[in-house]
Amino acid sequence: MGWLHRARWAEALEGLLDDELDAGRVAAVLAHLEECPECLAELEELVRLQRSLARLAGVG
Ligand SMILES: [Zn+2]
Repeated sequence: MGWLHRARWAEALEGLLDDELDAGRVAAVLAHLEECPECLAELEELVRLQRSLARLAGVG
């Protein structure tokens, strides 16, 4: 799996973090994450990024 796979899921992962997905989409993304370590790692990276941004903004 390469960049195309990541590009395809990146938006969904960001939507998941930002709580912008409808319930069906959330279920689909979560099901994918259970089978795809690559996207799971990507999600963890996004979470880390979001936390550091929150810290910079003085929220965390
Ligand atoms: Zn994936």
